[in-house]
Amino acid sequence: MADKTFDAVIVGGGNKALLLALYLIKYGGMSVGIFERRHEIGGCLATEEISAPGFRGNTHANIILPWYYAPIWRDFPEFWDYGAQWEQHKCSDGFVFRDKENCLAIYSHKHDPTQERTAKEIARFSEKDAETWLNLQSVAESDEYLRVTMDALFKPVEDRGLPEVAQRQADIFPKVLEAGFLPDSLTFKASSMRAAQEWFDSPELQSCILRFAVSSVIDINDSGSGMMTMGMGATLPTIGFARGGTHQIAHAAHQILVQLGCQFFTNAEVDRAIIENGTATGIRLTDGSEIAARKLVVSTLSPHQLIFDLIGEEHVDDQTKRRVRLIQDTFGCLMWYSFAVHEAPIYKAEAFNPDIHECQWLGLQPDPDPMHIARECLYERLHKFPPLEDYAPTVGCHSLVDPSFAPPGKHVVQNEQLAPPATAFSESEWLEIKKRYADELITLWQDYAPNMTWDNVIGVDTNSAFDHCRMKNLGTGMASTL
Ligand SMILES: Cc1cc2nc3c(=O)[nH]c(=O)nc-3n(C[C@H](O)[C@H](O)[C@H](O)COP(=O)(O)OP(=O)(O)OC[C@H]3O[C@@H](n4cnc5c(N)ncnc54)[C@H](O)[C@@H]3O)c2cc1C
Repeated sequence: MADKTFDAVIVGGGNKALLLALYLIKYGGMSVGIFERRHEIGGCLATEEISAPGFRGNTHANIILPWYYAPIWRDFPEFWDYGAQWEQHKCSDGFVFRDKENCLAIYSHKHDPTQERTAKEIARFSEKDAETWLNLQSVAESDEYLRVTMDALFKPVEDRGLPEVAQRQADIFPKVLEAGFLPDSLTFKASSMRAAQEWFDSPELQSCILRFAVSSVIDINDSGSGMMTMGMGATLPTIGFARGGTHQIAHAAHQILVQLGCQFFTNAEVDRAIIENGTATGIRLTDGSEIAARKLVVSTLSPHQLIFDLIGEEHVDDQTKRRVRLIQDTFGCLMWYSFAVHEAPIYKAEAFNPDIHECQWLGLQPDPDPMHIARECLYERLHKFPPLEDYAPTVGCHSLVDPSFAPPGKHVVQNEQLAPPATAFSESEWLEIKKRYADELITLWQDYAPNMTWDNVIGVDTNSAFDHCRMKNLGTGMASTL
């Protein structure tokens, strides 16, 4: 006899779980129970006072794109009022280059809806790229492009081969051609690096696009990512963040779900799915209790956990097991530091363009050559940090736009840097690496922003690939030992 019964049982209480539960209850009319291993729900929708008291940092996502929650704002209008709000910096993306102390600012849609201002900045490096940029943005704003994007983002994989989906892709073709982006077989097979170099002349713009591709977990040396480079470029002006931190999104979903009658169980680690006659009929928690599902059991964990922990490999065919074992989970691991500071960084490149001061996703590079980014990816493949000259960190300061991130007059700056996976080092080695990286970053940052010395720092959160395994679903081998 089960200890509890729901129509739908959801394993994990993060982003996917909360949003799915909204729909299962309101539109599916089901009773839902959410089972979360940690002490609270939200998963990677997490914002904490991490670097110092009063200074908030997102322990995971900082980039929130406008379409992430578009269906929720439409189907649950109270979601925004309950705190799931979206905001943009003046410059959504950009790069500063140390050699000439100059920079390229990509203005956000909020501050440059036509992208003319951005085109003027790009023209300081290449007139031709400025024209290509405006062409790209006009494709990106067309109904045809938006339809294809919505198919790619929101259609289940099995529906993506439908004739109407193929027709929508054909409809965009003339526009892409007209804009000068030849989608031939070479471009489809090309790496992001090659495509960016083919379409744009200035290494400054190439670097902006390619560094964002890395933040989207693309190794820019990989063949087959060429056409994606177009989408990466089109996305730069749309980069934004969650007002008050991503945890506000979890709070907003939680409020609606409580009103809808959803039940939450924290400190409730799921051990197994209960399988009867080939069908999942419930779950067993690590404390031995059993929960029955009348209609469905949903896992929001990693494919590895789903197959090998929850279902059990005896229920899964060999090809699926092999495919899941081969999923790569060691590229795109990050150092994700947050610094509480007295003063926001003041860049030497502000003499070139003062607006670069307020940039959400700002790359730092010794010179504009995107090979730094390409080499950084190659080093990560080897599970190594690159030499200092090839670090291509991004930095940004939400508190310039959203004062809720820091006490009055103070600021919080965050950083992203590719890093080896958690499994590459032992716990004690990570402790050393985390200290060393903080010093390296501050040394490097000062070359671009002379006020970024340790004297300006009140506190630092050294959030590494090792620490990210606190979400058991984010690390396979390592997480099970934590
Ligand atoms: C450092 C970092 C930076 C990131 N930055 C960005 C960014 O800028 N923009 C962006 O879009 N994305 C970013 N991401 C990715 C984004 O955070 C995740 O893709 C997203 O949160 C995944 O949501 P989810 O629901 O799949 O998983 P999660 O939000 O991780 O939720 C899964 C939940 O399942 C729980 N769980 C695990 N095992 C069990 C178990 N056995 N039983 C019960 N519960 C369990 C976990 O504790 C967790 O709460 C980043 C990720 C990291 C690690």
